[in-house]
Amino acid sequence: MRIPIAAGNWKMNKTVAEASAYAEALLQELDTPGVEVIICPPFTSLYALSQKFAGSSVKLGAQNMHWELKGAFTGEISGSMLLELGCEYVILGHSERRHIFRETAEEVGKKVETALKLGLRPILCVGETLEERERGETEAILAYQLEKGIEGITTFPNVESIVIAYEPVWAIGTGKAATPQDAQEAIAFVRGKLSEQFGSEKAQQIRILYGGSVSPENVGQFVNQEDIDGTLVGGASLDAGKFLDIIKETA
Ligand code: 13P
Repeated sequence: MRIPIAAGNWKMNKTVAEASAYAEALLQELDTPGVEVIICPPFTSLYALSQKFAGSSVKLGAQNMHWELKGAFTGEISGSMLLELGCEYVILGHSERRHIFRETAEEVGKKVETALKLGLRPILCVGETLEERERGETEAILAYQLEKGIEGITTFPNVESIVIAYEPVWAIGTGKAATPQDAQEAIAFVRGKLSEQFGSEKAQQIRILYGGSVSPENVGQFVNQEDIDGTLVGGASLDAGKFLDIIKETA
């Protein structure tokens, strides 16, 4: 009953020309009903891709936004700007934002609240570092990031439109994916926490993705797990052919 997702996070990759060529290649081959396909390019390519994907089933997502709607925040982008550009989704709290740009769990929570208020669907990322895993703190970290992330939306009527991505930091860009069992265990834990917050009916509707070194070769093992509803793909989503394979394996 949960429609699986194949989401590509391009991070800081591709010019507008490169993004447009990719979109054409993707649309030419894309024929996978039953999978929700989401592309999250840099801000600069959002407009061009919204034109390319208009009338197709491919959804557009951004990689970040500010929690305020406007004001003196040099270099920032608001959720209302993203909506106008045709975004349906926005990745929030990616580990690169948390670790490189020092975003706090509270700030991520404010962004999630603003996004959902606007009708933008947050893809809230959570995940532990290697040190935290080795210290046995994985569940505590996931619980903390999740709790702060959803704090502002617990009474919202549309909470089920949020997507969670479990991305262990040590698996991102390392070629060393989590085992499907470890990913399932962490994601089942996250679903349990969602159930405590929103009730089990809503928790059963929320899609939870795995991310971290996902490839056409390993994606099948993840999406076969009971609680894993798709993947958030970095490196392997940059190649249209590889991402098409990932989409097919997700169906
Ligand atoms: P990789 O697939 O390159 O490991 O990146 C994962 C990720 O961070 C997706 O958001």
